[in-house]
Amino acid sequence: MKLILLGAPGAGKGTVAKMLTELDGSVQISTGDILRGAVKAGSELGKQAQDFMNRGDLVPDELIMGIMEDRLQEPDCANGFLLDGFPRTIPQAEALKELLARIGVKLDMAVSLDVPRDVILDRLTTRRTCSNSDCQAIYNTKSSPTKVEGVCDKCGSPTIQREDETVEAISHRLETYNEKTAPLIGYYEGEGLLMSVNATSSDAVVAAIKERIG
Ligand code: ADP
Repeated sequence: MKLILLGAPGAGKGTVAKMLTELDGSVQISTGDILRGAVKAGSELGKQAQDFMNRGDLVPDELIMGIMEDRLQEPDCANGFLLDGFPRTIPQAEALKELLARIGVKLDMAVSLDVPRDVILDRLTTRRTCSNSDCQAIYNTKSSPTKVEGVCDKCGSPTIQREDETVEAISHRLETYNEKTAPLIGYYEGEGLLMSVNATSSDAVVAAIKERIG
């Protein structure tokens, strides 16, 4: 399947994408993961992206389109792809439309994951990530805590809050989402590609998508 996953930070795009990859071999493409990898590797892309990311601001559209132009033409995308965290702005959506037309690829749908704001805030402030860059296991202090507080179950390194998961950075990311990304819902509705789902449960989202496109 070839899908765009839309939704606020913490709506569960990454979780749903991972579940969908297991259904039919589609690949998950997360621009956030690609950018964090570049920051960690200290590449030129990472250096350009780092400050925007730490503030909870969007990285400029040109940088993102450069990444996606290459990524979408890699051979593994032929089986399908799940775009997680991209597009994030109307200009990115327009550039994606032009890119897909150019490479002859047709999207199935843009799925909007709808989750109430209080659930989002709670999910994000309770998320913890393993500080070991080779592990990066994800925990939640409420729903999936580590066995020993603050220590990764898998590798024993300290678990931390991502720099963009402090309360201030999260509020800023949500504002940015409302201003820049939420308009994509109307955009894809206009394109005749929108499917909206209640995303309080990721299992229910996956079931709804399966039912719709098989
Ligand atoms: P979130 O949990 O906010 O969805 P992501 O992992 O998708 O987080 O992204 C982390 C950060 O990477 C964003 O706050 C932003 O700085 C940058 N980023 C990721 N994808 C994009 C994109 N498509 N356009 C611009 N910036 C992006």
